Amino acid sequence: MRLDARFVTSAFEPGGYPLWDRAEVALAGRSNVGKSSMLNALAGAKNLARTSRTPGRTRALNFFAVGDHLAIVDLPGYGYARMPRSEAARVAAIMNQYLDRSERLTALVLLVDARRGPGCEELELAARMRERGTPVIAVATKCDKLRRAERADALARFKAMGVAPVLCSSVDGEGIDELRRRIVGCARSSRRAVDAVEKTPERDDLR
Ligand code: GDP
Repeated sequence: MRLDARFVTSAFEPGGYPLWDRAEVALAGRSNVGKSSMLNALAGAKNLARTSRTPGRTRALNFFAVGDHLAIVDLPGYGYARMPRSEAARVAAIMNQYLDRSERLTALVLLVDARRGPGCEELELAARMRERGTPVIAVATKCDKLRRAERADALARFKAMGVAPVLCSSVDGEGIDELRRRIVGCARSSRRAVDAVEKTPERDDLR
């Protein structure tokens, strides 16, 4: 199984978000965490994430449609060492505005380098999602770089976040199927919730 994704649009503010009825799953992570490689691995495509990298789009939210009901929102990478502070604040504002306001956001996939573990930004993001009741799918990236004995330490680093990560590698494919299942599972359960509300007799009477 692969996620059949196609790029739809970029947006910097809510007015530019696509008007669709799709369950959105957002991908977030520090620059260089392996987010582009992960997006390509999930989609089984070599260059899908290149669209998010073209000039003018690296600081934007990039929306990808997947099948008929799901969408992936590639959030701008944060934590660039050389990014001026004002620019970093602008990127954070674009991301926060989406995470705080989007009604269609059904899960956040939070990518963390397995050898680094979650930092302040990731802990804050996870706490914010908990507050709004949105599931977090934690992903430990680049697990092919871990020796066997280092795996337990990598898992332990995620304890502070309160979410057990999916151990993944875009290089050898570890965890990618599991991650796809988790993404589709979150989107499906939110869809069922929406359908259940829309099918209540009260709503039918209103139509
Ligand atoms: P992004 O900045 O988060 O989009 O990260 P990229 O996907 O561009 O990856 C950053 C660097 O990490 C590149 O040099 C990739 O080749 C490398 N990388 C990405 N994923 C993996 C992985 O699963 N394993 C290893 N060993 N390297 C990876």
